[in-house]
Amino acid sequence: MSDTLLDHDGDGSGEFFRHIVMESADAVVAIDLMQRIVLFNPAAESVFGYRREDILGKPLETLLPHRFRKGHAGKVEEFHAQQSPARYMGDRKSHLVGLCADGTEVMLGSTILTVATPQGPVMVAMLRDISERIRLQTELARLASADPLTGQLNRRAFLESLDREWQRAFRYKSGLSLVMFDLDHFKSVNDTFGHDAGDRVICEFSDLARGALRDIDIFGRWGGEEFIAALPHADLRAARVAAERIREAVARRRFNAEGDGPLRVTVSIGVADIREGRSPLQQMIKDADHALYEAKNNGRNQVVIWNGAGSIRALASGGEG
Ligand code: GH3
Ligand code: MG
Ligand code: MG
Repeated sequence: MSDTLLDHDGDGSGEFFRHIVMESADAVVAIDLMQRIVLFNPAAESVFGYRREDILGKPLETLLPHRFRKGHAGKVEEFHAQQSPARYMGDRKSHLVGLCADGTEVMLGSTILTVATPQGPVMVAMLRDISERIRLQTELARLASADPLTGQLNRRAFLESLDREWQRAFRYKSGLSLVMFDLDHFKSVNDTFGHDAGDRVICEFSDLARGALRDIDIFGRWGGEEFIAALPHADLRAARVAAERIREAVARRRFNAEGDGPLRVTVSIGVADIREGRSPLQQMIKDADHALYEAKNNGRNQVVIWNGAGSIRALASGGEG
């Protein structure tokens, strides 16, 4: 089967367009109303690894990973029906994913348009392999948001996520609590066991706390040996329970200081909430910080909650003995 689409001339422009399509560095793939492939240029051959003669007449889904096949057919029909103008997609959040002949997947920037032809409307996609660019963008975004020591969110990325959660909680009055952690007497951990051992303790604490939280909770390194968690849909009581569970687990844990023997560390924790959807974000952070300060003052190794009425309540906890 040949590219019947391009064989159609009529006004003599066929050869001109054929030349452009054949020489294009972008893959050009067209499908008819039945979603069968009717055009496949040489660049498409190198992107997908199919020879033109093998793919022409095959269903479009041949070029799609299985998980996208079901949804995609409907989207194509929709696009046809709406007579939409040309549409470009090609960034990290919106791009097409193609399935190559060898089973690998390729991420594609695409311009999609519908063209009327004597054989009926066809949908044309001009596609470009942007896998490498997306891989780099994704890696860059990850590096920009991750704290290098612990791999958790850094302060900036945490605040971005927190802002989104805060807006949601504010709009839907859905509850949101903030938990701030500061490891106790950490200077002396460094002084006694060395900075590298201190770093390992920070990582181990971070893994422990992250692991004790729910998937929907946001956790990040606030700085140094201070961490912070945002708990969506959690009121003070729920946040207190989560914080207390982490405090206890830390107090029980024998941290591994590699050769320096198991090491004991405790953590002080401040908890605040969005006050039934009324606290401004910065206020909630201040409240949690204030509660943490009180936990330190009251003897460390404890959870203090900010109950909103300007008063702070210390909860049953270990204390420093
Ligand atoms: P406390 O919080 O109980 O009041 O006492 P602290 O000794 O922990 O005091 P503070 O929070 O003021 O100081 C934190 C110390 O943690 C200071 C610094 O030596 C250490 N620290 C901060 N960041 C790191 C880090 O990335 N690695 C290591 N090893 N130590 C760090
Ligand atoms: Mg500190
Ligand atoms: Mg500290």
